[in-house]
Amino acid sequence: MQKLNNNEINRGYLNFIKDLSNDYSSRRQSSLRSIFWKIFQFSQLVTIPLIYIFGAFLLLFLRVRLVFAKKRVESRLHLDAINYIEDFIHQYPMHLYPILAKCLEISFLKNNIARLKKAINGKIVEFAIGEGSLSKRIFLPEDRIIGLELNPYSLKYTQECHHVATRVIADCLNPPIIKGGAAAIICNNLLHHVTDKKKTLRKWAEIAPYAIFNENTNYWASGWIKPYLYRLIGLDSLAEKIEDKIKKRQLQSLRTIEELDLLVGNYYEIISENSFFSAKVFFYCSIFSFLLFCYGPPTPKRQKVIMNNLCWPLTRVLSFHLAKTLIEFDAIQNRDTDTYVIWSVKSNLIQPEAVNDEIMFSCPDCGEILQNNYCRKCGRLFEVIDDMLFLLPNALNEKISNYRTFSSKLDKEHL
Ligand SMILES: [Zn+2]
Repeated sequence: MQKLNNNEINRGYLNFIKDLSNDYSSRRQSSLRSIFWKIFQFSQLVTIPLIYIFGAFLLLFLRVRLVFAKKRVESRLHLDAINYIEDFIHQYPMHLYPILAKCLEISFLKNNIARLKKAINGKIVEFAIGEGSLSKRIFLPEDRIIGLELNPYSLKYTQECHHVATRVIADCLNPPIIKGGAAAIICNNLLHHVTDKKKTLRKWAEIAPYAIFNENTNYWASGWIKPYLYRLIGLDSLAEKIEDKIKKRQLQSLRTIEELDLLVGNYYEIISENSFFSAKVFFYCSIFSFLLFCYGPPTPKRQKVIMNNLCWPLTRVLSFHLAKTLIEFDAIQNRDTDTYVIWSVKSNLIQPEAVNDEIMFSCPDCGEILQNNYCRKCGRLFEVIDDMLFLLPNALNEKISNYRTFSSKLDKEHL
């Protein structure tokens, strides 16, 4: 039986998924604790006016700086990204970090997936597809992709995404797909949650001849408000300590862009590569995250309700103009401290001619090709629940096997 690698940061998600299952069955917070929790959450709403005030000042400040910089925005990636801002405001109201990250990612993805589609004939798999909120903005309904994801509470929401033809609960670090089982792999925002990136990339390079994926660089951790300010005043060791805490809490394992290029180069030839979102721009965005009391893209529910209803006209105008200005400001930065990097690559381990006609899944424990979701070697039938094939190795199955089909505690767009 495959053993769990406890040094692998990605395994931190297993407890998160297990907790979601437990929440439905037994665990209930004591009423006193839940009252204090609610009071605490409501007290966080007091920063909402500050978010708008700070946003207005930052917008003015950056517009003036852009005028004085006297540089034209020439980056196609950045110019195209501006077209996607409107799509994300409702999901991330006044939350500039995920708006910028996702608009710039989509800008690269749209362009490169269109080019990729000319070289392949379907058979696209997306690893770590989540609830599909990013995926549905990249693909067309006729693309009929296969979505792999570890968290069933996320993947079940892709039932509403017409472009996803097949849903599989699987370990995306070691996907249960045979060599040449897919024509192209798309994977967004997963690799930074993986410690052993080399092993994962080798496995991916065996599965499909083409891939598009992204990473965060080490500047992602140093761009947050506290470490950024500490470094500005020369308190580097204190900044480092906080960065380590942020990485641990957000389950991130980060490298420099040079290290990442070397890693990717082990198994892939790079077709195109872009880096974006400089540490300075990331820092400006992190101030909004700080005022929203969050570190990742998911935006707190209560703040979201207020900003998307009562304050919607202001939210819409200010979020759009801030995001546009920040993207333009990012376009004229030098690229030395970029927090994101994205590649479109061609595998050195498998040729396009070697791709199978059908995507074929393999047993996650012994590697045998499955026949109707059955592994003859292990004598194991893999279950389909809620239209999702649970294709997990025994070691992971123990943590995720308690999946319950109740409506999820996670929101429809929770990533
Ligand atoms: Zn087997």
